[in-house]
Amino acid sequence: MNIYDLTKEELICYFLSIGAKKYHAEEMYRWLYQKKIKDFSEVTNIKKDILKQVQKDFSLGSISVVQVERDTDVSKYLFELSDSCHVEAVLMMHDYGRSICVSSQVGCNMGCKFCESGRRKKVRNLKASEMVEQILKVEEDLGKRISHVVVMGIGEPFDNYDSFIQFVKIINDPLGLQIGSRHITVSTCGIIPKIEEFSLFPYQVNLAISLHAPNDLLRSRLMPINKVYPLKELMISLKKYSEKTSRRLTFEYILLKDINDSEHYALELANLIKGMNAYVNLIPYNSTENLGFFRSDAFQIMKFYDILKKNHINVTIRREFGSNISAACGQLRSKKEEL
Ligand code: SAH
Repeated sequence: MNIYDLTKEELICYFLSIGAKKYHAEEMYRWLYQKKIKDFSEVTNIKKDILKQVQKDFSLGSISVVQVERDTDVSKYLFELSDSCHVEAVLMMHDYGRSICVSSQVGCNMGCKFCESGRRKKVRNLKASEMVEQILKVEEDLGKRISHVVVMGIGEPFDNYDSFIQFVKIINDPLGLQIGSRHITVSTCGIIPKIEEFSLFPYQVNLAISLHAPNDLLRSRLMPINKVYPLKELMISLKKYSEKTSRRLTFEYILLKDINDSEHYALELANLIKGMNAYVNLIPYNSTENLGFFRSDAFQIMKFYDILKKNHINVTIRREFGSNISAACGQLRSKKEEL
């Protein structure tokens, strides 16, 4: 078992079960996440016989960095997992801090037509530890702490819900990485039963919805998941989510040239989300080869933005990172594995 799969509470249970004390587990948590040990032998304040048992029962990490692409305020990391699969994370420097975009699965089964990750089927879910370690590895490379986490890399986090929740508990812990839940955002293509479950999760984690189209016809063409969880039902479940949690939602909307970027769609979008506690994040598309989608031009993006604004919708245009490097989800992995 990988020790990074355990919450602090689970580690405490384990320590008690081997006859050690609660504070030993708390010390261990600090060694893991604050001092970031590479080997259990670095631990100095826990008795040797306890440490021996821990060493026997747990491994310490399982992923390694195999490639880094760097640009001024963004770096992209390619990781190799213990079974030779690859996933990616992106580090972004903002004026408010450093954020990381982590992957939640190897590949993805949602099949969104414009997405590089979706072009390649899911191989497996990531374990919580494999998500946690993406942060640890990037912090190690950087020599600094990361303040914000978005689960928007390869994979659909709500298709790997339990590991995602475990991941949040681990990185949020005050003795661990201390990433505040308001600094964590999860993005989903709209898996309704998990949105309902997530509304009961007592952490103030932000929820982003990949909308990308304001009606069923277009959305089903772009995102096959819409045939399973259609827009109308999705919006009902999101309204319930908002009522239950009082948290503000984010709608992500990639602007795809001549597909979903017309003034007509902007109006339809405004009508769809009018009155909700939500804002729209317009995303300039990162073109990837072979998929046949293109980025809307700047003028069209501004037109779309203006229509939403005029209709009193909170809207931002996503700041761009990494179009010089392979920053669209899944591009680096694809390059590596298809060479
Ligand atoms: N499966 C989740 C999270 C991963 S994708 C989801 O669907 O939300 C994170 C976001 O990046 C999604 O909004 C996705 O639609 C978007 N995305 C995918 N490919 C992109 C590309 N080439 N350019 C810009 N955004 C992209």
